[in-house]
This record gives sequence, structure tokens and C-alpha cells, in this order.
Amino acid sequence: MTAPDRPATGAQDGLALAQRAGIHRIALPTPFLVGRVNCYLIEDDPLTLIDTGPNSGKTLDDLERALARHDRRIEDLELIVLTHQHMDHLGLLEILARRSGAEVAALDLLAPYLADFSRSAIADDDFAQAIMRRHGVPADLATVLGSLAAAFRAFGSSGRVTLPLGDGETLQLRDRTLRIFRRPGHSPSDTIFWDEERAMLIAGDHLLARISSNPLVSRPLAGPQQPRPRALLQYMNSLRATRELPAGLILPGHGDPILEHAELIDERLRMHRRRAVRVLRILDGHPLSAYEIALQMWGNVAVTQAYLTLSEVLGHLDLLVQMGQAAEREADGISVFEPV
Ligand SMILES: [Zn+2]
Repeated sequence: MTAPDRPATGAQDGLALAQRAGIHRIALPTPFLVGRVNCYLIEDDPLTLIDTGPNSGKTLDDLERALARHDRRIEDLELIVLTHQHMDHLGLLEILARRSGAEVAALDLLAPYLADFSRSAIADDDFAQAIMRRHGVPADLATVLGSLAAAFRAFGSSGRVTLPLGDGETLQLRDRTLRIFRRPGHSPSDTIFWDEERAMLIAGDHLLARISSNPLVSRPLAGPQQPRPRALLQYMNSLRATRELPAGLILPGHGDPILEHAELIDERLRMHRRRAVRVLRILDGHPLSAYEIALQMWGNVAVTQAYLTLSEVLGHLDLLVQMGQAAEREADGISVFEPV
């Protein structure tokens, strides 16, 4: 899901600006395709770490060495803040919380999810299986992907959220106030942290500079279990809300800082509309399942990255349905889409 390259102008300036605000980026290795994940150490009272990186010895070792470069140890951490439920961002939670005794702050909706991570992850995987089968992914492929997902669960972590954060509330540190906004789309628990005084936003995976965040079709955290959450539609609404913030600097969960977020968000919104038009052309007259469309759009990637591409295509189909250009109906237990 790579977006057109943008120049990295200002990335260094962005990091320097963050450092002047007492925020250090710590980019930790992950076993995932996305590459490194950004954690942020905030020199404030309490001493705060945003996200932890995945649960692996290599990541823990790198984190300890990075903290040492700032004359800090894991035991010094006083507050751990989570941006969302994905394991590349929270896998070391249990270890860090135990060793430091730090408070753990996260979106209130995330607390029950984290209380038993493996149970939540199993429920997520079951949900993904049902989505894949309903949208035409062959059973044997779905099974293989299911066992892959199960193998990856060990990179996650359970944890006790001691400071549940509500949408719109604030998190008060000695030198800064962070306002909490829920921005679902990439995941149901995407949370962003807005420092109005500095016009600075810590955004997790809600907005990334060089790759478009995948609006993954995810099991809802609470409320009625809809047949299927409209992740891309939710994500586009979240992006529009973030566009309104007068942010001068955005610190994302992967890659470089973002300086011109409105322009980047406009580009993302345009890209999704373009992809929806491509999907509509593929539909051209005959009903297809989302998986069949994914195969035509993404070729072999639709097999190796089946859930990612399926989520992507379903998002664009939802956009077409919303615009009255496509309709969804059931045929032999499989959902098919056709042009209107
Ligand atoms: Zn991530």
C-alpha cells in the first residue's frame, strides 16, 4: 500500500523541534513488514514513553540502549501511553510495566481488550476468518493465514490500563497538556495526543508520511457487533477531523515526522477516491467478490497479504456503495458487489 514518495524535507527539523519540546524518537525493530516502530520518550514529570514496540528480546535490548543514551533506564519510566491496539506498538507493555511500576494510559475502550490480550487476539483472528470466507478468500488460504496470525500473537502483550482515557479528555503532565482524541480507522482504538500549546500531535499510525495507513477491517471493541465495520469510511472521517487541527508537527508511529498534514491528508483522501474508481472499472457489469477484485488489483499480493488487500478493497467498495455507485448482495453465502 505504498503511496507516491514524498521528499523528506523538514524531517530533521521536525525531530529537532520535538527534542526542544523534550520528546525523543526511539525507532525500534519489529518483525513486521512495516519495519521500525517509533516510540517517543517524553522528558517530563512523569517520565513518559509513548508505545513500547513489539514483545521481542531484540526490541527490549534496543530500547534499553536507546534509553541509556538519554541517561534513563526502564525502571525510571513513570507513565506508558499507548496509541492503539496493534502489537508492534504495545508488545513490551507487560515487561516494561512490571519492571518500572509505571502507570499505563490508553483509550478506555482498550482496557478490557488488553486485560487478556491473547483472548482478544484470538477473537480478532476468528473475526478475520469470518470476513475472509464471507468475501471469497479460499478456505485453504484463510486457514494458512489464520495459523500465521496465531504464530505472531506472541509479539503482543496483556496489560492493566491504570489511566483509562476518554475521547476529548486531557492527560496532564508537568510541562504539557495532551488532549485525547479517538480517531478510529486504522484500528478501532486509534488515539491521538494533541499538545495545543506547541501545535504538536502524537498520532500513532493514524497518519504516516510515506505509507498510507491501512484501514483494516477489525472486530469492534464495544457496542453492537455490526456485520462489518466500514473501516475506510470511518478512517476518512477521522482524517477530516485531524485535518482541522492547526498542527505544526505530527509525530507518527512509523517513519518521519509530518510537517504539512493538511496537504498529506488531502493526498490520502484523493488516493482513496482514485482507488474506488479503479474498483468500479473492475466491477464493470458483473458481480464479483471482494477477493476476486483484490486479485485483479493486487495480483499475488492479494494472496500473501490477503487480509490487508481485502480490507483495502472492501473499504473502496464501501465508498462506492456510499456514493450510490455499487451495491452488495449475497450469493451462496458469499458477498458480491455489482455496479448500480
Ligand atoms: Zn504500527
